[in-house]
Amino acid sequence: MKTIKRIISGLIAAILLTTALSVSAQEAVTVEPIRFRHDHFIKGMDVSSVLSLEKSGVKFYRSDGEEADLFQILADSGVNYIRVRVWNHPYDNAGNSYGGGNNDAAAAAKIGKRAAQYGMKLLVDFHYSDFWADPAKQKAPKAWENMSLTEKSTALYEFTYNSLEEIKSAGAEIGMVQIGNETTAGIAGESDFSAMAQLFNAGAKAVRDFDRETLVALHFTNPEKTAVMKWLADSLNQYQVAYDVFSSSYYPQWHGTLDNLTAVLRYVRETYHKEVMVAETAYPYTLDDTDGFSNTVTRWNCSGENMRWNFTPQGQAGELRDVMSAVNDADGLGVFYWEGAWITVGDTTGLSGSELESQIQHNRQLWEQNGAGWASSYAKEYDPDDAGKYFGGSAVDNQAFFDATGRALPSLDVFRLVDGTKYLLGDVNRDGRVSVEDATLIQKAVGEMEELDVQQKALADVNGDSKVDVVDATLIQEYVADLSVQFPIGSEQL
Ligand code: CA
Repeated sequence: MKTIKRIISGLIAAILLTTALSVSAQEAVTVEPIRFRHDHFIKGMDVSSVLSLEKSGVKFYRSDGEEADLFQILADSGVNYIRVRVWNHPYDNAGNSYGGGNNDAAAAAKIGKRAAQYGMKLLVDFHYSDFWADPAKQKAPKAWENMSLTEKSTALYEFTYNSLEEIKSAGAEIGMVQIGNETTAGIAGESDFSAMAQLFNAGAKAVRDFDRETLVALHFTNPEKTAVMKWLADSLNQYQVAYDVFSSSYYPQWHGTLDNLTAVLRYVRETYHKEVMVAETAYPYTLDDTDGFSNTVTRWNCSGENMRWNFTPQGQAGELRDVMSAVNDADGLGVFYWEGAWITVGDTTGLSGSELESQIQHNRQLWEQNGAGWASSYAKEYDPDDAGKYFGGSAVDNQAFFDATGRALPSLDVFRLVDGTKYLLGDVNRDGRVSVEDATLIQKAVGEMEELDVQQKALADVNGDSKVDVVDATLIQEYVADLSVQFPIGSEQL
């Protein structure tokens, strides 16, 4: 009797636990759809750290727990563009890497190739530095340090052109190139605007010579400083910098309101006839750290007036949705989410004492050996005041779309939900991916062995001719065989 009671109470506990787990795993996010003004609004993600993470043993899983290539998970989720940073030579004299993903041109080529395998274009983000370039740091690459401005322009042209050739020949589909990263106050060691303009134009010319169709983007920060943004756009015009896209970062803890972002982008677009977009945004789904290295947003600094979404997957999805909407309101090209997969290399959640210390020690080794953290100790020769003192792990693991085990969070659905559909075109059985099973289901429906509901019929009509027939099944089979094949119409039609 006692035993049976124990078994039954054990069973009940197991059932309760299972229910609780499945509820938390499936806690769906909801966002209001956006009526996009651009035909192919960019729903992009920067995943520059991915190679270093994979080398450190990180694996990625769909929300149902199935392991898959990160790039396939992103493409299936509606991400249509990948962004990758490029540093000139992020290594010391002994060949040790500075970390931060070890992002040289060779890494960008590997990332671009994998993006293209799943039908996603690439934005190549040149920092023109050997390590992080940001509003406070625009240090020239070691090899350019003693160059005159003319020599530096030539070097920048050649580095840009040669890197793009290398990335393209690996199989990447380069759609856009950023000439500099967060170049609000300088680029490659130059802070005088006429020198900056000369370098911008050298990079732009390299992109034009590489491919006339590829967009040339410039990237600035601090849209809340409206006068500075207007001055930048005006100066670019006066110095006749030949670019296509004026882009800004938007981090709500620093960058003002979304209404102001829309106003600044619309001003630049209408005054100077440039495309506009957000090149970086991110938002925490939790305030907990998972790798033993402090994050940029923590429970001690998260209270800014524009941090108005909850620190949950729902809040994270809401932030990205609202940034997309703000850019759309300015007739913008799109939005890139920054490092949405830079998760921990070893989960520290719930650990304490010696267990915590040994896990952090393990993580430190991976940051150091594989470049899986924001900086390794080897970066101190190039960046002594910042990386040299504070080198370590991921500062944005709580802003990823994947939890500490690599499993996709429900917030990743935001990329499709903004289109007003939870499903990709072709996902007839609605299991979150387009597979041969969908083609089979169409064939069965055509043979009247299965019946499709109204939504399934819309998902099955991949060529958009208002009929569901074997042509749709064949298109899906071709897509499955070669994921870079695109359906004639986009998922935004649903
Ligand atoms: Ca961290």
